[in-house]
Amino acid sequence: MGNPKALISGGSIAGLSTAFWLSQAGWDVTVLERAEAFRDGGQNIDVRGTGREVLRKMGLEDQVRANTTTEKGTVFVNEKGKKVGAFPVEDSDGMTAELEILRGDLARIVLEALPDQVELRYSDWIENVNERGEQVDVTLHSGNIETWDLLIIAEGVRSKTRDKVFHHEVSRKELRLNIAYGTIPRSSQDDDWWRWYTATERRQVSLRPDNQGSIRAMLAFSSDDLNLAAIPVTQAQSELREMFADAGWEAERVLDGFANSEDVYFDYLTQIMMSTWSKGAVCVTGDAAWCVTPLGGGGSSLALIGGYVLAAFLSQASVHEPGSIKSALKNYEDWMRPIIEDSQSLPPGAPNLFYPQSKVGVSTMQTMIRIASLAPFRKLAARIGHVARSKQQLPEMIIAKEKVTV
Ligand SMILES: Cc1cc2nc3c(=O)[nH]c(=O)nc-3n(C[C@H](O)[C@H](O)[C@H](O)COP(=O)(O)OP(=O)(O)OC[C@H]3O[C@@H](n4cnc5c(N)ncnc54)[C@H](O)[C@@H]3O)c2cc1C
Repeated sequence: MGNPKALISGGSIAGLSTAFWLSQAGWDVTVLERAEAFRDGGQNIDVRGTGREVLRKMGLEDQVRANTTTEKGTVFVNEKGKKVGAFPVEDSDGMTAELEILRGDLARIVLEALPDQVELRYSDWIENVNERGEQVDVTLHSGNIETWDLLIIAEGVRSKTRDKVFHHEVSRKELRLNIAYGTIPRSSQDDDWWRWYTATERRQVSLRPDNQGSIRAMLAFSSDDLNLAAIPVTQAQSELREMFADAGWEAERVLDGFANSEDVYFDYLTQIMMSTWSKGAVCVTGDAAWCVTPLGGGGSSLALIGGYVLAAFLSQASVHEPGSIKSALKNYEDWMRPIIEDSQSLPPGAPNLFYPQSKVGVSTMQTMIRIASLAPFRKLAARIGHVARSKQQLPEMIIAKEKVTV
């Protein structure tokens, strides 16, 4: 009997970490990525909680540590750039985590650690899925029709294959928050802190250091009717300019930087909720299954955890035993649900609470930050970083040692 075969659609953190583990569990794994090549880029993300435990099991913690963005902590500033309150990285699990890394660097580290047996296919994607209970037939854009024991969808928040297979089981919660991310030149005034400024009219500006000599900037605003991710980029850029023209602090510099930057991207934060994460021989993982958005936090850690947990339960199952894969998928879902629900439940009043409209609202928020940053309250404030942390033990991974060469 041959090895079981899995197709993973989506070659970012969720897809690659699932491939890493599933291959070690003795599956033949193919990763399908719509982009022409590995997708670099993206901003600062962190690895926290149980995600860090998974990274350690992968043997990649030291490599991630060697590639961190070197951020010293988070400091909230006023319109003059003066400190309102600071949360140094030493407060473990504060806003700046100990392991802060660029998204592209983390994805590349996992990619390079993949066992040789994992097949990577770029520039192709799924056109059609015929789920047949114990197996699944997949029609690819390139024209091939192939049969797999399991299709794992890891295509991110806007996954088309997920919508095709699970359409009625998918619901979305829009948080009415636009975020524009981009890379801008570093200036001599910049430091290695994450500087965060709240302006009136529900706007925020933030600047973060990276390990490449540039600054990762973010402009965020809350709006009930404008979705910048749904309009052409040039139009989104001019809406953004109008929106932040009088925001103050470094807003104008960021707008100018974005106008000359190639990697600006717009997100309209949307949580994904699904009533089930599997259907016969198809399952979902990562943002495609449970996007928690940067507001919930820990999306990349959850992608790492999901990959491990899914593969671990599959490593304990056998495709040759009827019902065995189905119960592995159920165990995966039962294990992951609590940690996802925890990350998706936002504090009462969020996100509007963090995006005040008036000057009075901004100064009330600054007072709260000032108090939270005082030593006696810092531990409490650090709870904000307590994401992607499960009380459960990670399931055991049964490694098929003899066939793996990493
Ligand atoms: C280029 C990029 C930049 C990002 N930047 C940030 C950031 O700055 N801040 C932040 O908080 N999060 C960012 N994210 C999202 C972050 O990576 C995820 O929230 C988190 O890591 C979970 O990862 P994921 O693998 O589930 O989803 P994603 O990282 O979104 O990856 C999904 C992958 O699937 C591929 N894909 C999509 N559709 C198909 C298809 N039909 N067939 C095959 N492949 C498909 C995509 O090209 C992508 O590689 C970024 C993602 C990407 C891809």
